[in-house]
Amino acid sequence: MANGPVRVRFCPSPTGNPHVGLVRTALFNWAYARHTGGTLVFRIEDTDAARDSEESYRQLLDSFHWLGFDWDEGPEVGGPHAPYRQSQRMDIYKDIAAKLLDGGHAYRCYCTTEELDARREAARAAGKPSGYDGQCRVLTAEQAAAYEAEGRPAIVRFRMPDEAITFTDLVRGEVTVTPENVSDYGIIRANGAPLYTLVNPIDDALMEITHVLRGEDLLSSTPRQIALYRALIELGVAKRVPEFGHLPYVMGEGNKKLSKRDPQASLNLYRERGFLPEGLLNYLSLLGWSFSADRDLFTVAELIEKFDIADVNANPARFDLKKAEAINADHIRMLDVKAFTEACEPWLRAPHANWDPEDFDRAAWEAIAPHAQTRLTVLSDITANVDFLFRKEPVEDEASWAKAMKGDPAALLTTARAKLEAADWSSAESLKEAVLAAGEEHGLKLGKAQAPVRVAVTGRTVGLPLFESLEVLGRERTLARIDAALAKLAAA
Ligand code: GLU
Ligand code: ZN
Repeated sequence: MANGPVRVRFCPSPTGNPHVGLVRTALFNWAYARHTGGTLVFRIEDTDAARDSEESYRQLLDSFHWLGFDWDEGPEVGGPHAPYRQSQRMDIYKDIAAKLLDGGHAYRCYCTTEELDARREAARAAGKPSGYDGQCRVLTAEQAAAYEAEGRPAIVRFRMPDEAITFTDLVRGEVTVTPENVSDYGIIRANGAPLYTLVNPIDDALMEITHVLRGEDLLSSTPRQIALYRALIELGVAKRVPEFGHLPYVMGEGNKKLSKRDPQASLNLYRERGFLPEGLLNYLSLLGWSFSADRDLFTVAELIEKFDIADVNANPARFDLKKAEAINADHIRMLDVKAFTEACEPWLRAPHANWDPEDFDRAAWEAIAPHAQTRLTVLSDITANVDFLFRKEPVEDEASWAKAMKGDPAALLTTARAKLEAADWSSAESLKEAVLAAGEEHGLKLGKAQAPVRVAVTGRTVGLPLFESLEVLGRERTLARIDAALAKLAAA
């Protein structure tokens, strides 16, 4: 373990919608920082002008706020290493690149793409390593001057040391890479733009990051970055090489890596469906980590208390939507009623909700909310569960109607109406007794007797507990809906 306080970072590139892999990485860094009492640095890696966008940047901030992440240094909060957007740090990179060139750690490479391709093909054909062959490593001043005179563009390459690089990954243990497997790599484009390969380790060094926790897809860049760190240490820019921990791949459908473009990977999808942030974080934390052998359900506070990078598993994790939903449903149950009532409001007040906004009745919502809370998997399901309360007429669903209106529904509904009319409307139990008694008169068990009542009143065959629903809807509206159903049956 590194000495001194932990400093970790999340450093996404603002390219497109946030996806669950990115959130999992951010979560593990955040949880580790909070668990250790360390510092979380949030840095924006926006050096790729062609792919980065301001809109994605805004989305990242908005998503992280929604998830409940906070950071100690970065956008909005500032910090001793500001600015935290790489697009505003170009002078720093230019300066350090010049030092790397001066110190012989990097060199200009004048090879054209065609030349590189041809040599790579030849190496492949000869069964040799196909990385960069180091041709420009040894250019004399005259050769370089001649290329310059020709007007050849040059990229800057980092000179990899001719020795194996070994490090102890916090997740997968010792990793060794031999020199023939890592060739000298580009750090600055011909147009002068610095690349991820340069700016990411420079910033980790300057921001004194102690632990780099990131996805397994970046494992292959780690030996190169370690070599670059060593050069930065020699130049007095870096103090030390951080520790690395590579988080396992997340597998999606068909055991293929979950890709950013996979609809299931989109964070917005979960947000729009009404996952609770704590439910989603609980589930995502299980992708490569576990709370304990017998517990999958925990709060964010418990996660932070328990989380340690040393407990992350190297095996690929499988993304399981059903399990994510089940955990989210449990988190919905864990809310106190007031929090649940408020959490549903955005869906209840959304313009697309299928009732007139002015018909929304807060008192009715508060009365039914406890019964809805035990039923929901995702908050967006709330509208279909309570629309009977706020619509002037129940939804028309012919399939539900046909399914429930069997036998002699008019006779049953007529009896049920009479008994409901005489019932005590201050108790759901009394409403149940009324329907039970009506069923008995027609030789029907409660389940069969309540189906036509439910469809008459709510329009659906399934929904919240019926008698509590009737109680909240009220006597007059319930009876009027039964009358409307009887009229419809008579007209058929
Ligand atoms: N900006 C990089 C990415 O989003 C960060 C990689 C890293 O953590 O080093 O993939
Ligand atoms: Zn070259």
